[in-house]
Amino acid sequence: MYGITFRDLKKVAYEQIADPKILAPTDAIVKVHLTAVCGSDLHVFHGRECGLDCGTVMGHEFVGEVLEVGKEVNKLKKGMKVASPFTTSCGVCYFCTSGLTARCVHSQLYGWVQNGKGLHGGQAEYVRVPMADASLYVYDDSVSDRQALLAGDVLSTGFFCAEMANIRPERVYVVIGCGPVGLMAVLGAKHFGAEQVYAIDQVPERLEMAQKLGGIPLALDQNPWAKIQEITKGIGADGVLEAVGSKRAGQLAFELVRPGGIISTVGVHTSPNFAFSPAQAYDKNLTYRIGRCPARHYMERLMPKMQELPFDPSVIVSHEMSLSKGVEAYDLFDAKQDGVLKVVLRP
Ligand code: NAD
Ligand code: ZN
Repeated sequence: MYGITFRDLKKVAYEQIADPKILAPTDAIVKVHLTAVCGSDLHVFHGRECGLDCGTVMGHEFVGEVLEVGKEVNKLKKGMKVASPFTTSCGVCYFCTSGLTARCVHSQLYGWVQNGKGLHGGQAEYVRVPMADASLYVYDDSVSDRQALLAGDVLSTGFFCAEMANIRPERVYVVIGCGPVGLMAVLGAKHFGAEQVYAIDQVPERLEMAQKLGGIPLALDQNPWAKIQEITKGIGADGVLEAVGSKRAGQLAFELVRPGGIISTVGVHTSPNFAFSPAQAYDKNLTYRIGRCPARHYMERLMPKMQELPFDPSVIVSHEMSLSKGVEAYDLFDAKQDGVLKVVLRP
């Protein structure tokens, strides 16, 4: 088969690789219909997250159809349409049964193979899915492939971010970063009833999309702090939803949030230190919530409600390209030019 593999810093390749095989009786092989490039892939691409073996198949966002199942797969049948969360989960451990599927004791992240161990990714024609009955979500024609694909990561992550911010209608929220995740956080905050959701970025098209989804755009270079101070009469934002994953964004979140407020972070931080000190957090009586989205849990909630959301989340898909153009897709998504927002790839 063909897939996009990690080669080196800022270097991915479209190349022929071995077809995945059933390795455990609970595995399934999925034929990929649609896959996508995520902001998290960029951390690997730029070497902010390192350790990946050369040749690892990239990507963790995909939907497709069941091609083959292991002997102990009971629920899934060949031909079923399935969406995958970006991590696998067993469905029965303490964390799975309490809704924290991202911390399943057997969880694996797609597209992460280190020292020969791990799981290849979804930016390929076929992918092996461990614990397939519990990991995969079976869907029908009431949900489009694009919607199901987004539910496996950025849509769920945006809603998770909004939920951690404890949304109340009358309060003031700020989303930092209007990439696919931040935009879905705007959608999530609106869905949970927020009236005022300010959205900060530096890319004009992304700010426009935030506005389309119900957010109030604030340009990063136009002193968002002063604006939030003015709006809140010097108090600060009740909740800040951070969807970037940089020290600068973390510091901005800290500056914008009011004493007693919440910072909800889904941006993946690769710096070894917090953007603010424990003493600063103390002095603000801060609630700081952070972590990997339990996407499998959110899919269960979001997939049946897809048509009830304030907007179709798939409006953020700006480019659909052939998987064979995957290398260009990385460069395009990374450059944040040509109005690029979410790039999906079709094998
Ligand atoms: P992206 O790179 O497309 O989006 C990031 C956006 O932030 C860009 O639009 C960029 O212009 C903007 N930005 C950069 N610095 C900024 C700043 N200082 N202030 C305001 N905006 C700024 O990526 P994405 O796909 O939207 O992902 C966003 C983050 O979420 C990444 O760190 C990704 O790894 C993470 N993520 C986390 C989870 C999770 O489970 N927690 C899941 C998916 C993605
Ligand atoms: Zn992702």
